[in-house]
Amino acid sequence: MFKTTLLERRQVAEGTLELAFKRPEKFAFHAGQYLQLRLPKLLYRDRRGASRVFSIASSPADKERIIVAYRDTGSGFKQTLRESRIGSEVIIEGPHGFHLLPRQPARPVVLIAGGIGITSFMSMLRLNAERDEVARPHITLLYVNRSQRSAAYLDELKHFEKKSARLTVKTNFGIIDEKFISTSVKNKDQCLWYIAGPPFMVESAQGALEAMGVDSGRIYCEEFPGY
Ligand SMILES: Cc1cc2nc3c(=O)[nH]c(=O)nc-3n(C[C@H](O)[C@H](O)[C@H](O)COP(=O)(O)OP(=O)(O)OC[C@H]3O[C@@H](n4cnc5c(N)ncnc54)[C@H](O)[C@@H]3O)c2cc1C
Repeated sequence: MFKTTLLERRQVAEGTLELAFKRPEKFAFHAGQYLQLRLPKLLYRDRRGASRVFSIASSPADKERIIVAYRDTGSGFKQTLRESRIGSEVIIEGPHGFHLLPRQPARPVVLIAGGIGITSFMSMLRLNAERDEVARPHITLLYVNRSQRSAAYLDELKHFEKKSARLTVKTNFGIIDEKFISTSVKNKDQCLWYIAGPPFMVESAQGALEAMGVDSGRIYCEEFPGY
């Protein structure tokens, strides 16, 4: 458990906020992990209390900050967060989770992000943008949002894609379906598949992959409940 402070808040898409906290020196994590964020006091009532779980969106190589992002639904917890002053104290617990890329993946990787499910993948892609390219497999990011305005981090992702021969970013506005996946990814049989997002999006993507004949042992899912 670590006490830390809020450094920055910014909007990264329609109805979507990103918060940066000071990274405690001893807070170590891997790209793909999540934390529990606890507020010392709620300004608004919230049935689920004063904490939520968020994937870490910053790179483990960023020693200064820990970043999370979320859709601002208006829950008492998130209203309190929205009004929290810069410099105010919060508690983070963690890291937790195993939605991690293998250390030396022998296969190409496909990341399927449904909306805010992009957060944990941002951590992986931000880390990759700082590392040597040679030993890395090709990564294809399939990023599905309701609309362009609700798609967080599009510019940053396009920038990463431009700089790397080992990253392909494909966006789709609407729903995740078999056609989008199959037209975006070559050598489907060889890939490792990672899916993250709201439960209905994860289910749709998983269903589409299984309908395409992808071995379920190569599909790794992380659901963000509450959406
Ligand atoms: C591993 C993991 C990583 C996550 N990463 C992110 C992230 O990066 N960004 C992000 O925005 N969200 C993330 N979430 C989801 C996040 O924890 C919140 O549940 C979500 O943001 C909704 O919170 P809320 O305050 O808007 O709504 P809430 O008021 O918490 O919930 C809205 C409705 O959903 C129901 N609900 C909420 N959680 C559950 C549950 N676990 N089971 C059943 N019903 C539930 C509530 O009862 C309520 O009716 C993650 C969740 C997990 C498990």
